[in-house]
Amino acid sequence: MKRILVLSLLLSLVAVSYAEKVKVRLFTNNKIDALYVSFDLGLYDLFANDSSLIEPSLGDNLSVEIKTSPTGDGVMVAVNGYSYGTYTSVSLRATDTACILCLNPRNVKQRTYEGDLVVSAFGKGNLRIINEVEFETYLAGVVQSEIYGTQSDIFRIQATISRTWALRNINKHRSDGYNFCDYVHCQAYQNRCIRPDIMLGTMQSSGETIVDKNGKLIETPFHSNSGGQTANSEDVWRSALPYLRSVPDTFSYHMRQSDWTKVIPINQWLGYFSKTHKLNVQNDSIRKELLTFSQPKRKSKILGIPLTRIRTDFKLKSTFFSVSVDPHSGDVVLDGHGYGHGVGLSQEGTIRMVSLGISYDSIIRHYYTGSQIHRDENVSVAYVNNFVTEITKIIEEDKAHPGQKKSKKDDWLGKLFRVRDRQDREEEFDPTKQEVESDYKVEW
Ligand SMILES: [Zn+2]
Repeated sequence: MKRILVLSLLLSLVAVSYAEKVKVRLFTNNKIDALYVSFDLGLYDLFANDSSLIEPSLGDNLSVEIKTSPTGDGVMVAVNGYSYGTYTSVSLRATDTACILCLNPRNVKQRTYEGDLVVSAFGKGNLRIINEVEFETYLAGVVQSEIYGTQSDIFRIQATISRTWALRNINKHRSDGYNFCDYVHCQAYQNRCIRPDIMLGTMQSSGETIVDKNGKLIETPFHSNSGGQTANSEDVWRSALPYLRSVPDTFSYHMRQSDWTKVIPINQWLGYFSKTHKLNVQNDSIRKELLTFSQPKRKSKILGIPLTRIRTDFKLKSTFFSVSVDPHSGDVVLDGHGYGHGVGLSQEGTIRMVSLGISYDSIIRHYYTGSQIHRDENVSVAYVNNFVTEITKIIEEDKAHPGQKKSKKDDWLGKLFRVRDRQDREEEFDPTKQEVESDYKVEW
């Protein structure tokens, strides 16, 4: 059994070390009654109830099938079709640091992960699948799921804000028996990281977190695009936080999610305010405000109604919109900017700033007012530098020979840097095609 180190709950004192593990629930949003596991790299030991060994050294050409029991209080396990019985839980423990699992739940797209796996029943016909994985490996997977781009500073920034969020919220699912779920309620973790440039950015940010002037970890909300101005935290959630202030953000202009338009029949628009908010829409001044409302700068309300409510009810990309009436059709037209809640860091603004050569820490300070980057002295600079040197070489060789990527074919790379994958899996999984929306709810 590998030793699992429990993360300290005293977050400000946490030393981010590569040996520490977190528990992440996978496929949280799916109901899964059967899971098929195969092994992409390394050997795994299969345990029942986390203590008694069922099968050692599972690897190539073997597959484990885990299903819910008919009574819903246990899991049935079989290896290559041979059934071993029913247990409260089963676990697959990696025997090495570079081990990769390939997970195929019934009716859900395949994903790959590193580290260990613990599976138990979660009600009738549903499995609870937990990945126990090194914290930094988890973070690299989060970065790959949460942002697109090609420059390592983009990933470095995302890694720093995701690390800060994770350390601050390490107990988010404590009562459920794990640290994080794998979707936007916590942070998206849709696959293990397979890209060397994302590994590089994550590693460059090693040991870095964002703190306020008192040295405390801050909340680090982010969104796809601010539309040109970020929002105050109290205009979206309850509390006014000193580091979540509205700032002008022209860097978010002219990106994928900078602008949007939505056309709504005028009767539906006015009817909504009349029925839901009891406004007298026959009143001239009320009607005029509802049909000509404009936001040269962000506002938080229209006629006293929070724009966040309007955003939810009409499924709008943002609250940063102005209203007009199309003179031909008579429909209401919302001209909007940005995508997401607008608080904190704009991901597309970040991508633009990095492309302009603006420094990593300036970008973070632009979006989180008065914040600072804290560097943990316990993280080995030599280890980080060695990794950065080696992986930079690989990225450059990939660029020089795009047809035959070194990062895909070299066995030693996986052993050393955990980025090896089978070619077919890499081609199948393209993180740049993912949705870029990355809102999540913050509980103050
Ligand atoms: Zn969660």
